[in-house]
Amino acid sequence: MLNGNKCHILLLPCPAQGHINPILQFGKRLASHNLLTTLVNTRFLSNSTKSEPGPVNIECISDGFDSGGMNAAPSRRAYFDRLESVGSETLFGLIESLRSRGRPAHVLVYDPFLPWAMNVAERSGLRSVAFFTQPCAVDTIYRHVWEGRIKVPVTEPVRLPGLPPLEPSDLPSFVTDSDPVINPDLLPLLVNQHKNLDKADMVLINSIYELEHEEFDWMESRLPLPVKSIGPTVPSTYLDNRIPSDSHYGFNLYTPDTTPYLDWLDSKAPNSVIYVSFGSLSSLSPDQTNEIASGLIATNKSFIWVVRTSELAKLPANFTQENASRGLVVTWCDQLDVLAHVATGCFVTHCGWNSTMEGIALGVPMVGVPQWSDQPMNAKYVEDVWKVGVRAKTYGKDFVRGEEFKRCVEEVMDGERSGKIRENAARWCKLAKDSVSEGGSSDKCIKEFIHQCCNDSK
Ligand code: UDP
Repeated sequence: MLNGNKCHILLLPCPAQGHINPILQFGKRLASHNLLTTLVNTRFLSNSTKSEPGPVNIECISDGFDSGGMNAAPSRRAYFDRLESVGSETLFGLIESLRSRGRPAHVLVYDPFLPWAMNVAERSGLRSVAFFTQPCAVDTIYRHVWEGRIKVPVTEPVRLPGLPPLEPSDLPSFVTDSDPVINPDLLPLLVNQHKNLDKADMVLINSIYELEHEEFDWMESRLPLPVKSIGPTVPSTYLDNRIPSDSHYGFNLYTPDTTPYLDWLDSKAPNSVIYVSFGSLSSLSPDQTNEIASGLIATNKSFIWVVRTSELAKLPANFTQENASRGLVVTWCDQLDVLAHVATGCFVTHCGWNSTMEGIALGVPMVGVPQWSDQPMNAKYVEDVWKVGVRAKTYGKDFVRGEEFKRCVEEVMDGERSGKIRENAARWCKLAKDSVSEGGSSDKCIKEFIHQCCNDSK
C-alpha cells in the first residue's frame, strides 16, 4: 500500500470546535511519530478561521454550504444530509487529487458522526478508522440503543452491561429527552455512529482506558475490531505543567479575547480563581445567566467567565463594570492556558467531553452544570465515578439557582469534601499524563494504531 511513501493519514472531523480540537491534537501526535497527517476541513470553516495547524496539513472539502456553513442550513438534519451527499463526492475527489499530486493517502480517520466517510474510504482503497469524540460510557449507551437493548425515551433507572447504575437524569439528553425538535434531528446522528462500524479497521476513543476500563472492555467485547483509547488529546507541554507560548489549538472557531487574562491570573493566589465556561455551543437562557452571575458574586471569589459574543446581551446590566476588580468576562480564551494556571482552583463547566478531559488532565476540580447531549453523563462520572467534582442540582428540569451554584463552588474549593476532591483530581491528572507517556495505555494504543494501519498489506 505505501509503495515507499510515508504513511499519510487523513483526519475528517465533524465540523464543530469540540470535534476538530481532539482530532487535530491526535494528528499532531501522529506527526510527532514521523507520519504525514492532513486535517480535512470544510471550505466554509477554513475560510472563516485563522488556522495555525503546525505539523498537520490542511485540505478542504465542500459541505454544500461554502458561504455559510451549518448556520446557513435550514435544519441540522438538512445540514448533515447535504454534507453526506456533497461531502462524499468532494472527499473522494480530494483523495484522487492527493494521489495525482504524489501525496497518496493511506488511512482515513473519520468522525462517526459522518458514517458515510467509511464508504468513501472503502471506495478509495483506504483503511478506515472511526474516531469517537465522546467518552466510551456515552458511546456504550448509543451502542445499547443501536442494538435495541434500551428503548428511547428512557424514563426509568437502567442497569446495563459495562455501565454503573444510571438514573434517567444521568443519561445523554437525547436518550431521555422527548423534545420533538431536537430528537428527530440529533438522536439518529448519535445512534448511527454504530451503523457501519463493524466494517472499520479500528475504533479510537478520545478517552483514557483507566478512566473507563469496564466500558472499554464491554465495547471491545461487542465489536469485531480493536477498540483503542488515545486520550487525553491535550498537548504534552500542558501535561508537563508548562504553558506554551504559542497557540496549541491551531483551529479556533472563535477569536480569543484580547484582554490580558493570563497576566491577570498571574496576580492571583494559587487555587483562588473560579473559571466558568459553557463551551462553544451552549446557549443559556437570560434567567440562567442571571442566576450564575448572582451565584458568582455571592462566592466573593475571583473569576474568569467565558461569555461568547452572541451571549453577552444576556448578562445583567452593569455586571462587568460592577465586578471589574474581582471578575473578568472574556468572549473566548485559550482554555488550556487558563486551566493550567496555578491560580485556577475550580472549573465550572457544562461538561462537554473536551472540557471534562481537559479538567481531568490538568487536575482542576470541577462543578458540572450540564446542559444537553452527553454532558449529564459526563457530569455523573465527574461526581460519582472519578469523584473530581460535584454536579449542580437542578430546580425543575435543568435550571440551576444562584445559591446552588455558590454551594457547589464552595464545596469544591473550601468545603468538607474539597481535600478529597483535590486529591482525586491530582491522582487522575498523573494518570492522564502517564497514559500518553512512553509505555502508558494511550501511548501503546497509538503505537498499535500506527503498526496496524500504516503497514504495507492493504
Ligand atoms: N474552548 C476554548 N476557549 C473557550 C471555551 C472553550 O478554547 O473560551 C475549547 C475547550 O478547550 C474545548 C472546546 O472549546 O476544547 C469545547 O469543547 P467541549 O467538548 O468541551 O464542548 P462543546 O463546545 O463541544 O460543547
